[in-house]
Amino acid sequence: MTSTHLSERDLQAAAESEALLPTPQADHLRGCRLCQDRVATYQHLFVATARLPQPAFTFDLTASVLAQLPRQKPAFPWMLGGVAALVLGVVVVFLLVFGGAVAQAFQSLPTPLLGTGLALVATLLVAGQGVELLARHRRQMRLLSFS
Ligand SMILES: [Zn+2]
Repeated sequence: MTSTHLSERDLQAAAESEALLPTPQADHLRGCRLCQDRVATYQHLFVATARLPQPAFTFDLTASVLAQLPRQKPAFPWMLGGVAALVLGVVVVFLLVFGGAVAQAFQSLPTPLLGTGLALVATLLVAGQGVELLARHRRQMRLLSFS
């Protein structure tokens, strides 16, 4: 048995389950009547709290919480925007220098192949943005879970 009693955090953890306690605290709890009584008090409190009806607020709790969440960042962070601008600049310079040769190459390509490639790239971009938005939404919803 250690000389000091369990902390409030350990008492509450023990009230949930004694398996949550580290071994020295669990050993202390087995030998200390005061800490056992405190754990029993927390267990009564937890049971009573679980039986309480759900609170009904006179205001829109969801709206007030959402108003306090941090603002959404743009879908593309500024660094990605800079990289995209740089790549776009390189592409423009390339087209200015080699535009004639590229135009001849595209004219020799079958049109469905070009359309399919553009559609594939656009689909990948939209899917990537969708996945990012979904991940961000899940992070925010995790912040809102009160259980
Ligand atoms: Zn104790």
